[in-house]
Amino acid sequence: MSRQAVAAAVTAVQDYVRYLQDIGVTELPLATEVSMISSTPSPQERLVQLEASVRGCTQCQLHTGRTQVVFGTGDPAADLVFVGEAPGRDEDLKGEPFVGKAGQLLTRIIEAIGLRREQVYILNVVKCRPPNNRNPRPEEVAACRPILDAQLDCLQPRVICAMGAFAAQSLLQTEERISRLRGRFHMLGSIQVMPTYHPAYLLRNPQEKRAVWQDMQAIQRALALQ
Ligand code: URA
Repeated sequence: MSRQAVAAAVTAVQDYVRYLQDIGVTELPLATEVSMISSTPSPQERLVQLEASVRGCTQCQLHTGRTQVVFGTGDPAADLVFVGEAPGRDEDLKGEPFVGKAGQLLTRIIEAIGLRREQVYILNVVKCRPPNNRNPRPEEVAACRPILDAQLDCLQPRVICAMGAFAAQSLLQTEERISRLRGRFHMLGSIQVMPTYHPAYLLRNPQEKRAVWQDMQAIQRALALQ
């Protein structure tokens, strides 16, 4: 083996170990095939590996009541990512975010800006269903944060639409009200974050549709979708 080949192999292993550390793996996966560490995985491959690695997550209490981890769905190369709060009953059963009533409204919102659901990526701050649809607790949000950060690191979207106070406040690390956060972009590193009302809130408060439509139009402009 040439010196360069050895150096490249060492760098690939170092990158892979760093990636495992980032997603919270504390023991080396000795059963991993050599092919997995022979080259640095692409962002899409890392997302698939991340999903597999969190399938059995027990980092917080929510694992005891879930049917499955609801990781996220959509196009891993999407420019636009929608972030919600946590899975509800329908999502827990199906293993997909936003498939209930609020999800159907989200699909219509996505279509209103000229995209299909499969062209964006949809995920939640917390990946497991809280019992009786209560709000996720701070320790549950904190336990899930490394997964959220690793997902965003793989996805590298240009724009995030944070749906509802919970998602917006968690992502932007603020306690500001959603009514004050929405309507303008906030930067998260190099990602533009547009907070808006949660589709479930919109179902109960249809008078806020106009505000959400304004937020969506701002996203359309930012992504030159018009
Ligand atoms: N509400 C959310 O915040 N996320 C879902 O996946 C479903 C409803």
